[in-house]
Amino acid sequence: MVLLKSKLPDTGTSIFSEMSSLAAQYGAINLSQGFPDFDCSPRLVELVGHYMRAGHNQYAPMAGVTALRERIAAKVEASSGNCYHPETEITVTAGATQALFTAMAALIRPGDEVILFEPAYDAYSPTVRIFGGIPKPIALLAPDFAIDWQTVAELVTSRTRLIVINSPNNPTARVLDDADYRMLSNIVRRTDCFLLSDEVYEHVVFDGKTHRSAAHYADLRERTFVVASFGKLYHITGWKVGYCLAARDLMAEFRKVHQFNVFSVNTPIQYALADFLGIPDEYRWLHTFFQKKRDLLLHGLAGTPFVPLPCQGTYFLLADYAAISDQSELAFCQWLTRKHSVATIPVSAFYSGAVNQGLIRICFAKREETLERAIEHLMAVKAV
Ligand code: PMP
Ligand code: GLN
Repeated sequence: MVLLKSKLPDTGTSIFSEMSSLAAQYGAINLSQGFPDFDCSPRLVELVGHYMRAGHNQYAPMAGVTALRERIAAKVEASSGNCYHPETEITVTAGATQALFTAMAALIRPGDEVILFEPAYDAYSPTVRIFGGIPKPIALLAPDFAIDWQTVAELVTSRTRLIVINSPNNPTARVLDDADYRMLSNIVRRTDCFLLSDEVYEHVVFDGKTHRSAAHYADLRERTFVVASFGKLYHITGWKVGYCLAARDLMAEFRKVHQFNVFSVNTPIQYALADFLGIPDEYRWLHTFFQKKRDLLLHGLAGTPFVPLPCQGTYFLLADYAAISDQSELAFCQWLTRKHSVATIPVSAFYSGAVNQGLIRICFAKREETLERAIEHLMAVKAV
């Protein structure tokens, strides 16, 4: 018997898979894993079919189809004013997840420290550890999950290789503002540390707030890998296509890994996305579209013992269940799935330490009727 010593001994199945399968097992409404339960534009599906029938079925160029990279450059410039050269500074990836993985692979050496803010998206810490890096989590707490930049400054040393940020944030639904980026910029200015900015929810920001990309700040742009996802832009999480933006030298290193990681990404989908990006209205209304869903959920929760936290963006709303139960978040989510047929995610799953704040994450990227049915179920939950 050959013994495989695990690189990730403490890692189990992701909480998203776990809660989605519990939802399926109990026939519960699945507001756990973050994916839309409505379809993407039929035009996009037709375009993929068109390019398949037209014979675009072999490997794409390693960095991505040129037409798509050009359209991404135009979109990025139009929506955030940032310029990235399609030839040297943009790479199409198999979802944001692969972009995160590849950027970390290109950067992290054994013993390098990586600063993360928790609650953190589940992929970050295990990926750091796969490459021998040492995660240095900073726990942010409810209700405002504010970053104390003094703490960050104290944690940055010559061993710090990378800082990972995620705004709009999954799961806190918070958005970093100009002051946050300026503090971060001051901290990293005289260091050799890089930045990985996960901006997959860039177009899902509410109440007139604007998303700021880390690329907007010159001191940050030169050291930042920006990660984006078409899954979130066009309701196609299952297609797993995203991209990475980075300054030329950084992107050169990213591509050295990318070519051996996936080499290239689904060709007909890239051509279809290039055409579809030419219709900018398709994503410009995303914030209103999702804000309506957030408001429907907020309105519905008002008739329940759940207390919602502020939600500035993303697919997710956090809710406090202290009035209902003092169970741990995981036990509460399992109970809510079994007894009230609504599956959600325990916020504790996004922390490496034992942090239990009595909070669940509810995904509202769902049809109105799904949200209305879920609200009916939640109205039956009684305060103690
Ligand atoms: N980052 C964050 C913050 C996410 O929420 C997700 C998943 N929705 C991803 C990355 C992964 O995106 P993709 O599905 O494009 O790999
Ligand atoms: N990003 C999605 C979420 O936060 C899940 C993606 C996944 O299942 N890995 O729910």
